[in-house]
Order: sequence, then C-alpha cells, then structure tokens
Amino acid sequence: MKHVKCEICGSDNSNAVCSAKCPDGTSRENFIINKCEICGFVFVNPRPDKDEMRSFYFEEYYGKPSRIMKIVANSAISVFSFLRKRRIYKYKKSGKLLDIGCGDGVFLNYMRARDWKVFGVETSESGYKLCEQKKINVSKELNFQGESFDIITLWQSLEHMESPARVLREIHKVLSENGVLIISAPNINSMEYAIFKKFWFHLDLPRHLNHFSVATLKKLLQKSGFKVLKTEHCSFEYNPYGLMQTIMNTFTPEFNFFYKFAKRNKTQGKKFILNMAITLPSLIILAIPAFFISYVFSFFKRGGVVHLYAKKNS
Ligand SMILES: [Zn+2]
Repeated sequence: MKHVKCEICGSDNSNAVCSAKCPDGTSRENFIINKCEICGFVFVNPRPDKDEMRSFYFEEYYGKPSRIMKIVANSAISVFSFLRKRRIYKYKKSGKLLDIGCGDGVFLNYMRARDWKVFGVETSESGYKLCEQKKINVSKELNFQGESFDIITLWQSLEHMESPARVLREIHKVLSENGVLIISAPNINSMEYAIFKKFWFHLDLPRHLNHFSVATLKKLLQKSGFKVLKTEHCSFEYNPYGLMQTIMNTFTPEFNFFYKFAKRNKTQGKKFILNMAITLPSLIILAIPAFFISYVFSFFKRGGVVHLYAKKNS
C-alpha cells in the first residue's frame, strides 16, 4: 500500500470519508477513500501499488455471461453502444476514434462496423486479449505519438487510472484541434452515494481509485488544458441499473451478486440459491421505481454517473 497526495491540487491534507472492502471478495482489506480538504477531490488513500492492483483485474473480470443472460446481455450491449454512438454523433459522424479503457472491445467493434477507424487502450490482460481476438488495434499503453483523433472516449475508465492528470496530458497530445473528449464517470456527488455510502455500486474499491464530482472533474480538465463544452447527467446505460444494484447490495448476502452473475456468469458461489431467491423478486419490484427515481436524481444533477464533453483550449 502506498500513500498519495491529491491528484488535482497536490495537497497532502485529506481526511477519510468512507471505507469498503473489494466487492469481489478479492481481498479482506478495508479500503479508505479520502476527501482533499483544499479542492474536494475524493480518492483511495492509501492504495495498492501497481503490482498489487493487478490481482483486482482477474481473468474473469471481462468474463462471458451465461447462455440465458447472453441474449439479454447482447441486446443491452447493442442499445448501450447505440446510446454511446448518439453522444458522439452530436459532434462528429465519422473519423478516428480512440477508446481508453476499452474493456473487451465491444463498443469499438460496433463503431468499426459504422466505418469509424477505431483504436483502443486496455491495460487489463483479460480485456486486451478479447480485443485482440476481435482484431481491434489495441495497445496496453497510451502511446499514439503522431496520431490525431477526432473523438477520444473514456466510458467509466478514468476513475480506474492511477494518475488521471497524466492520462489527460497524454490525451491532449493526440486529440485533434477540433476533436472532442467524452468522459463518462461515476458521480461521488450522487444521491446514491449520499444515501448508501459503502453499498454504492459505483464505489468499487480499490479499482475506482478516483471519485469525481462535476466540480473536481472540471478542475482536472481545466488544469490539463481542456475546456468543458457540456455536462450531462442522464444515463440509461448506467443509472437505473446502478441504483437497483446499490439497493440490492443492502440486503443480499453477496455484494453485486446479480451484476457478477449476469456479466461474468461467476459469483463467489456461497449461498447462491439464497442470493438468487432474494435477487429475482427484487429485480421485478425495483426495476420501474429505480428507473424513475434515477431520472429524478439525474434531473437534480445528482445521478449515479456524469458525462462531460471537452475540447482542447489551444
Ligand atoms: Zn486537492
């Protein structure tokens, strides 16, 4: 474990605001998030070093869903990819796209089929291999010197980065003059976190090293040479399910049980039947209320995730 200073203002003056264990049971350690007393940025401190972090991105992290869930998962992926494409098309309808933290590459695959030239960065071994299988131009490092991208996206990945400021500096070098950077990240200023704290689906310690609010993300972007064009709070892709899973985390024996079952077809295995017996009726009861409540939260700019669009200052 190593101690870090605030990434945004460099201050060493931060205090613990919440603690939680890794939702996958990968470690028994209780991880702590601190809030910077100077700028309000929230981050994991102390945190595992680079080698220790690898164990939290295990082989099944981007696993395959079960056969039953595959139909649901594939439909969801198509809808979510379409919604991401719509966010991009507000600015550009063709060109070169770089997705940083591209995971298993499904979104890049979708955009490539729509004539975009696609590139990805993925540091996890499991995600990297899945991108290679799809023949996506993927790299483990953000080194595209000499390239110039029209759109650069980070869908729920900046919160994973050891140094988001360094990543933004690198992005600044490869984003074209009229290019647009789209960042989607969990919102620590959300009602979900305010109410549920350690049960929040998007807390995901220690993988989510950085916990942004709109204010701190804007500060970081401005410091890195970007101008924020727009902020959006509604997200059908992340908010309704995030709220539902957060609520279920307060009463199911296993944390993120349905998420792990649906996405990876791999749960911790203990009390599987009990977890499932609690989860299935909860999904039916919670689906519609969670949908509406998450939109009310978003309307008041307190939804589970935020999207920021930015371009270079110069
Ligand atoms: Zn700070």
